Amino acid sequence: MEIEVIKKQFKKDLEKAESKKDLENLRVGYLGRKGKLTDVLKNISKLPVEKRKATGQSANALKLEIEKVLNQEINELASKSRKKPIDISEPGVKYPDGHMHPLTQFIRKSIDIFQSVGFQVAEAPEVDIAYYNFDSLNVPKDHPARDSFDTFYIEDGRDISDDKKLLLRTHTTNADVRFMEKRKPPVRIIIPGKCYRHDTIDASHEATFYQMDGLCIGEGIRVTDLLGTLRYFAKSIFGSDVDTRARPHFYPFTEPSIDLDISCVLCKGKGCPVCKHSGWLEVMPCGMIHPKVLKNMGVDPTKYSGYAFGFGIERLMMLYYGINDIRLGYTSDLRFLEQFS
Ligand SMILES: [Zn+2]
Repeated sequence: MEIEVIKKQFKKDLEKAESKKDLENLRVGYLGRKGKLTDVLKNISKLPVEKRKATGQSANALKLEIEKVLNQEINELASKSRKKPIDISEPGVKYPDGHMHPLTQFIRKSIDIFQSVGFQVAEAPEVDIAYYNFDSLNVPKDHPARDSFDTFYIEDGRDISDDKKLLLRTHTTNADVRFMEKRKPPVRIIIPGKCYRHDTIDASHEATFYQMDGLCIGEGIRVTDLLGTLRYFAKSIFGSDVDTRARPHFYPFTEPSIDLDISCVLCKGKGCPVCKHSGWLEVMPCGMIHPKVLKNMGVDPTKYSGYAFGFGIERLMMLYYGINDIRLGYTSDLRFLEQFS
């Protein structure tokens, strides 16, 4: 068969080929052991001498061309079959929804309750000077909380007075005087935020923790306003059957100072290991703002009075969710976190 005839025939056959199998059959039909082109090459020796060279050359060239074309077609077919057509009716891929960390959820819940009775959220720096963290709040120079065993001080090499020393705030109360330097009474603020203390970490202590402080200043603010507000908060969080009680205490920035307890939410006041069998849980230090602190705020203590309170957010959150280890909140363990979606 003439080389040109074989070439034309191959082109026709190629147009009809649709699948990989068809293309493989073409390869066998033209280049296989008994293929059309193989046949020509085998019989070259039988041709007249003058024709052998030219026929050999063109047969070999066609062989290379057929191989190349078939390989190209097979590759093209393979890449087409990899591209799946888009089916717009197929259900989409569902990505897992994230959710707020239980601590954030609890902070927001607490903020909502205080906002419902007129408090606004205030902030203060986590790195502050000792004046706002201690001095302005009437915390004496020899108070144990100032000790470097409890407070993280930041040494910057400057020779400065104690009240200007930088530290990581030990409570969010550092916002109180800062805020009042810019505002006039009446004010009602809550300050949620991170605090730092040099505590040994165990099931109920972390070196970094959250606190929520509150401050209310106005004319004629009394202890009963304080107790009523905190009672409202406790009942809003833990349910209306929770009781509160006030015990006298001492804090340098309040006078009188109070420890507010709530009835144990775990044993309902009957007594259990968590409440040390007393039926009560100590949750909120509070009191009426000391006149010296009011003066530091630029507020006239003969005209205005006010109260302040603060609580550890983790402690209340643990009671709220029934969590027994504060460290769970900081381990990023999904087995724990996914229970709060
Ligand atoms: Zn109890």
